[in-house]
Amino acid sequence: MKDTCPACLTRDIAPAESRRRGDRTVDGYQCPNCRHTWATVRDLAAYSDIHARRAQRRTRRSAA
Ligand SMILES: [Zn+2]
Repeated sequence: MKDTCPACLTRDIAPAESRRRGDRTVDGYQCPNCRHTWATVRDLAAYSDIHARRAQRRTRRSAA
């Protein structure tokens, strides 16, 4: 799943690696623009569209 860089807000960055940890996936990203690295943990068991939208909004807000 693509994500937005929390440092420079470059959008649609594909994960450099995805790891499965139990019922969660951990996507690791590196921004091609500013080289910032981060990871996003997604809980597959509780996964829903509403959940995903909330997570994205939280990511954007913490970047601002
Ligand atoms: Zn960036």
